[in-house]
Amino acid sequence: MVNARISVEHVVVIGASAAGLFAAAAASGAGARVTVLERDETIGTAQPRYGVPQGRHPHVFLHRGLQAAEEFFPGLRDDLMAVGARPFDTAKLAWLGENGWSTRNASSYQVLSTTRPRLEACIAARVAELPWVTIRNPVTATGLTRSARGWSVILSDGSTLDAELVVDASGRTSRFRRWLTELAGDAVRTTEVDAKIGYSTRVYEGDPDLADVPGVVIGPTPEAPRGGLALPVEGGRWMIMVLGMGEHRPPRGNAGFDEFLTQLRDPALAGIAARLNPVGDAMVYRQTSNVRHHYEALPNWPDGLLVAGDALCAFNPVYGQGISVAAAEALALREVLRDGPTTGWSRRLMTRFADLAETPWSICTGQDRRYRSCPDDPTRLEHLSNQWALQLGRLQAHGNLRAARTLSGVYHLMTPTRQLFHPALIAASVAGRFRGYGPLTARPAGLPAA
Ligand SMILES: Cc1cc2nc3c(=O)[nH]c(=O)nc-3n(C[C@H](O)[C@H](O)[C@H](O)COP(=O)(O)OP(=O)(O)OC[C@H]3O[C@@H](n4cnc5c(N)ncnc54)[C@H](O)[C@@H]3O)c2cc1C
Repeated sequence: MVNARISVEHVVVIGASAAGLFAAAAASGAGARVTVLERDETIGTAQPRYGVPQGRHPHVFLHRGLQAAEEFFPGLRDDLMAVGARPFDTAKLAWLGENGWSTRNASSYQVLSTTRPRLEACIAARVAELPWVTIRNPVTATGLTRSARGWSVILSDGSTLDAELVVDASGRTSRFRRWLTELAGDAVRTTEVDAKIGYSTRVYEGDPDLADVPGVVIGPTPEAPRGGLALPVEGGRWMIMVLGMGEHRPPRGNAGFDEFLTQLRDPALAGIAARLNPVGDAMVYRQTSNVRHHYEALPNWPDGLLVAGDALCAFNPVYGQGISVAAAEALALREVLRDGPTTGWSRRLMTRFADLAETPWSICTGQDRRYRSCPDDPTRLEHLSNQWALQLGRLQAHGNLRAARTLSGVYHLMTPTRQLFHPALIAASVAGRFRGYGPLTARPAGLPAA
């Protein structure tokens, strides 16, 4: 029996941040009419907004995400460059890992560094140009019911909006689980892994004069659970972010921020801050746990409902994966809508979304469980893979270019994790243990001492 195609003419997307905008582009690209609902009054401007509080903190587009975004919006990279995004090769960053400074001799993927609001503004401008897409704001989606068309979203002004497909892209604070339970009685299982990470970020003006170093990352370790980074953004500005786990979280206030900078494993960030002029205050952020809702495990997932982005799976932001995963989910959505969905399509797509989240999820949670502030211990498998990742980090710090390229490829979601176990890396590790690893990479010369 041939499975009949299901027609999807109108799509309602809840949330006009990264995941919602990509989902709108996906549905529009498949020929559907799209209404995006956003509760914030102002969207698509280069200013931080209420609904996206993480927008005050550094955001990078991993290479996989940039590639996916370019598939929706060809030339987006040029748009970002035109508004001042700063491109750099991530291999050239001064990166202090657990075993020392990473080699800067390998070349890797390019990222664009820009403030989050600027990034969102560029994407929103492209979405606004798409045919049949309407962004309605400020309006809050407050509920969901069945309708003759499939689904009906209830809005804060009392009206309803019918659609064949509703995509929840309303982020970490999504109420979709509650709506689903009220509708179908199905309780969704949630996994949370929380290392209690706190961020604090301050924006600066000026040029820290770091020679050929595009930016600096000081990674936290279980023994020294404080870290941070300094990255250039548009408008001749820099963002300096510090983070810490549990009792080591950065305090509120500018004085606390400055003090925290001096407590890191290396004085580079304090030195950079001293060469720049702050604009505005240090801003803290603490909603950083890894949270995953297992919608894919529900036995009776109905057609016409999808959950994407942070509403489905929110990651510890340290690894910068959320936007890239949301973009990859949207590409999968476009493909299915273009092919013509058939019965059971939404459940199959939720399983695909869950698969897309799997690698980033295991990277974040495996690492986070190593910290004392995280109540869960690593599983046996996570412990083994953490040990192996540490060993690869050691090879990288001792100048092994294959280790550097592979770690970078996995981080950018470009290389399958099985490549971490390439025979050449295993051989290099064995050789290192017996014959020594060679000299450690020197601290990059351009970094300030304090
Ligand atoms: C500190 C920090 C740093 C990060 N750094 C990076 C990074 O470097 N790289 C990266 O890729 N990711 C990063 N992330 C993750 C990234 O911000 C998210 O993954 C990304 O924004 C995708 O989120 P989203 O669109 O699913 O949800 P959100 O960005 O949370 O947006 C949800 C949207 O839905 C709207 N909304 C909510 N409820 C309703 C409702 N009922 N009705 C209507 N509208 C509603 C909100 O106003 C908001 O606009 C970081 C996150 C944090 C916290």
